[in-house]
Amino acid sequence: MDQEKIGAFIAACRKEAGYTQAALGEKLGITDRAVSKWETGKNMPDPSLMLELCGLLHINVNELLTGARMDMERYQEQAEKHLLELQRQEAEQNKKLLSLETVIAASATVNYLVMIFAAVFAVEMLAWRLALVLTGLAILVAAIAYALRIEHDAGYYECPHCGARYIPTMRAVVLAPHIGRSRSMKCPRCGQRGYHKKVLTK
Ligand SMILES: [Zn+2]
Repeated sequence: MDQEKIGAFIAACRKEAGYTQAALGEKLGITDRAVSKWETGKNMPDPSLMLELCGLLHINVNELLTGARMDMERYQEQAEKHLLELQRQEAEQNKKLLSLETVIAASATVNYLVMIFAAVFAVEMLAWRLALVLTGLAILVAAIAYALRIEHDAGYYECPHCGARYIPTMRAVVLAPHIGRSRSMKCPRCGQRGYHKKVLTK
């Protein structure tokens, strides 16, 4: 505890409250010299006087012991700013993931088409044709599974009925009919079915 800081704080609060050292001392049943000793940091107020002192100075005990007013408004403001920043970061991260999903799905599809095309037009041997088609299919399936995993993990789905934002099970995402990234699913909050839109933040 910084006694000098606390002393200066007491002095400032006393003046703000409109007391002289003598008047404050009188209210507390002590001498003006005792008040002066607090204010110069030579003594701390007796614990038995603290609550009454705080009441007279319109501060709380925490503020008395830290020697500063707690700025609740500023504290709130900072907390909100941090929260917004976290949300912004989450949205950005999810946006990146969803673009990655698009790239993966698109390139796997193009790859698949190229392999089918090659199998049909460029390869004579049946075994090689089959190998190309199957390999292309395997890559496509793996890519779709990966893309679905990303879509499940990035962001949330929003219920059009009650506005709930939630992360569904992987199974629900895989099985749901979809239009783009909107999936027809059952809302875990209100239980209604509908096309749930992808949103980036909760
Ligand atoms: Zn709902």
